[in-house]
Amino acid sequence: MSDEHNAGASHHHADAGTHHHHDHDEIEKGAALRVRAIEELMIAKGLINPDTVDAIVEHYERDVGPRNGAAVVARAWTDPQYREWLLSNGTAAINDMGFSGFQGEHIRVLENNDKVHNVVVCTLCSCYPWPVLGLPPAWYKNPAYRSRVVREPRAVIAEFGYDVPDDVEVRVWDSTAEVRYLVIPKKPSGTEGASVKELAAMVTRDGMIGTARL
Ligand code: FE
Repeated sequence: MSDEHNAGASHHHADAGTHHHHDHDEIEKGAALRVRAIEELMIAKGLINPDTVDAIVEHYERDVGPRNGAAVVARAWTDPQYREWLLSNGTAAINDMGFSGFQGEHIRVLENNDKVHNVVVCTLCSCYPWPVLGLPPAWYKNPAYRSRVVREPRAVIAEFGYDVPDDVEVRVWDSTAEVRYLVIPKKPSGTEGASVKELAAMVTRDGMIGTARL
């Protein structure tokens, strides 16, 4: 079984998507620079300390941002019709939950199961489904992750703590400005009686990127 890098429809970097990529990159950089300037000023004035800023950013990346995605996943786990809709038209089904907007215009939803484990990357920059996952963590933007997860996805996922079984195919999906991905993790076993809210609380950001299982 080979690890497949899906370079077909999902891989627009080399052609038509290039200028879009450039555009959103510039927007992201501009916003980051302004935030950075404000942060420097507040630190200089003694209003905040850098550790607090890091903690807040991490809180948003890990806890607040991905809660929308977790709600989507929990609904998919408990509502077969919604799951079908989500897999066939991710953007519309996600909009139905009230989640939409910048960097979420075209979201494709992938499902992990006993046969396939999906993992998401943006090899060129940091495309990420903001409306459902919030802002990407630093490692997602790191060149090491972006290049390695394509070449050796199993090794990278193992470093996050999950040894994908040999009989499970690993698929790597390369995000672009046009298509971003959300992974439905496998529902943890022993959760049959859990409420949607309880299920949502079990869904992690890394599970929805596909670098981890739940
Ligand atoms: Fe990107």
